[in-house]
Amino acid sequence: MLDADFFRRWMTATAASVDREADRLTALDSPIGDADHGSNLQRGFTAVVAAVEKEDPRTPGAVLVLAGRQLISTVGGASGPLYGTLLRRTGKALGDDAEVDEARLAEALRAGVDAVMQLGGAAPGDKTMIDALVPAVDALGGSFGAARTAAEQGALATTPLQARKGRASYLGERSIGHQDPGATSAALLVAALAEAAGE
Ligand code: ADP
Ligand code: MG
Ligand code: MG
Repeated sequence: MLDADFFRRWMTATAASVDREADRLTALDSPIGDADHGSNLQRGFTAVVAAVEKEDPRTPGAVLVLAGRQLISTVGGASGPLYGTLLRRTGKALGDDAEVDEARLAEALRAGVDAVMQLGGAAPGDKTMIDALVPAVDALGGSFGAARTAAEQGALATTPLQARKGRASYLGERSIGHQDPGATSAALLVAALAEAAGE
């Protein structure tokens, strides 16, 4: 079973990974964006970790709702409201239970990813974070490790795509040939989930 501590570890591991990879995320956001994705997420997840330490939420749902709220309020870019919605909606779907199992988390994450698609209007293949998140949720029925691999492959598979949502879409065909920064950071989020699970 997964308790509040597991979800805290997930957020801490994500923040550490975003810190390590911030330069790479910003470099990916340079040719097809405005070169701020790494710093956007660093600011956001630093605030998430600080808020989780300060407020000490006691349930899995409360950890994710708090984290989502922090991302929405601290990240100016498109990714803040989108990742914020992902975590907030996933947290709401987990309800007030002190512990949840993997199947429940997979179902809640599915609701979270659906909410991101509704908010941003992106579908798989539009060269966004959705291209890593959807395959990850599909693979989560297997294991956290399988979800991580699926997210990483989904991020790599954005390179030949033309962006149809977000800032990169303004470039039209010139967005082809670059890996999407948001799909790359989504793979980091899923890898941190596997790390929190010890996989
Ligand atoms: P901004 O583009 O406002 O500077 P970021 O650089 O932080 O925001 O995030 C850019 C990433 O956000 C993109 O690489 C893409 O994956 C994701 N993104 C942008 N718009 C959307 C959308 N409508 N739906 C899903 N993801 C999106
Ligand atoms: Mg940007
Ligand atoms: Mg920006």
